[in-house]
Amino acid sequence: MSNYHARITGSDYAAMADLVTKYKVTVARHTVEKVAQGYRVDAHASDEQIRALEAAGYNVERLEDAQIQGVARQKEKRTSTGGALTREALSVAAGTGYLDVAHIEAALAAESEAPNDAFTTLIKLPNETWEKRVCHALKIGKGSGAGRVGIYFLGGVHAREWGSPDILVNFVQLLANAYRTNTDITIGSRTFTAAQIKSVVEKKDVYVFPQANPDGRNYSMLTEPMWRKNRRPAPAGHTQSQCVGVDVNRNYDFLWDFPKYFDPKSPIANSTDPCDHDVYIGPAATSEPETKNAVWMFDNFPHIRYFVDLHSYSEDILYNWGDDVDQSADPAMNFQNPAYDGKRGIANDKAYREYIAAEDKKIAVNLANEMRDAIKASRGRTYKTEQSMSLYPTAGTSDDYAFSRHLVDAKKAKVFSYTIEWGSPQNPTPFHPPYPEMKQIIDEVTSGLLAFCISAQ
Ligand SMILES: [Zn+2]
Repeated sequence: MSNYHARITGSDYAAMADLVTKYKVTVARHTVEKVAQGYRVDAHASDEQIRALEAAGYNVERLEDAQIQGVARQKEKRTSTGGALTREALSVAAGTGYLDVAHIEAALAAESEAPNDAFTTLIKLPNETWEKRVCHALKIGKGSGAGRVGIYFLGGVHAREWGSPDILVNFVQLLANAYRTNTDITIGSRTFTAAQIKSVVEKKDVYVFPQANPDGRNYSMLTEPMWRKNRRPAPAGHTQSQCVGVDVNRNYDFLWDFPKYFDPKSPIANSTDPCDHDVYIGPAATSEPETKNAVWMFDNFPHIRYFVDLHSYSEDILYNWGDDVDQSADPAMNFQNPAYDGKRGIANDKAYREYIAAEDKKIAVNLANEMRDAIKASRGRTYKTEQSMSLYPTAGTSDDYAFSRHLVDAKKAKVFSYTIEWGSPQNPTPFHPPYPEMKQIIDEVTSGLLAFCISAQ
């Protein structure tokens, strides 16, 4: 089935909302722009969907066929490293193709086994995936004691977004090597000094969980390039291929049961239909082993106070909240207040806005801007610091769940939380760009993450 990367123009804002609610098109949520003819968005749609849109008066500019070109991309991944899976063979900086599922795990293991290495620890996640894969995270941090700040980077949640695990493996390799050799890291015009690297490793704990959904990645790299969900077996009686899987990033325990919490007219990018190709929320909050593993990290390392989840695409750094527009005036208007059930998730209305304390928002934006500036220093791309809420709100995402934890349970740490949407919509197959472009993205996002580690206090 063809699936086109496309630019879709509609006459007004309501027509943009319909793309998700009525036409079930895959929309890059933060690319809605005002143009002379109305509003335009970067999206992916099938032939059938495009015909329906055109009949309804939308203008659709077809770019590449994401299915056909995605299959070509599959051939560009590394099929072999030409020998043993050593640290050197698994170097992202020296590589010419996406790492596969086994490479990501091997790269973490190799890093943890490097000689003279008292500062990296391999962490086995407790929940096997549906296809019985075991996942690992890596802790980088030397020393112990109270007062250490935990920083948590997550990647590979969405299957087709191939670059996120590569970014995080590169981050690990670069940081660990610089610490071992007591050298600076220079990316573009930005230099992270050996002293700064030493301070991060010896005063903070950085947890990197690069491949949260290996089943999905494997399926996307070998079978269906546009696959997004995990590989939970389809419910009984559902035989279509898209009835497999849950969107792990709609499965967290934050306003998860969205029909109860959101305005029925909200163009929320979530679905209760198991056969939704992209955004099925699952049978219960935190039902999926992948979600459980991501949450386990927060529970098991309670000093984690900063969190970044890597996704693609649109060159954004997103901070809380994603369910509605932020407000700092009325603390009682918040996600826990049942008086607002049925009212959430309409942009720019007055019925509901999500509360965030003004001082928290200031910290959140400042840290996002630190990442933005370090990303720009790499090769000049300007990522936008934006609130996660857009025309299309969300529920059940990792970043809102992470920041909500301390509000639901005051004993838990406040976790400043972000989603980075790496890569430009101008790229062909933007979920998994040609690797020479991906390498540049790997560098720029790595730069942003290093700056984040230095700034997070
Ligand atoms: Zn994603």
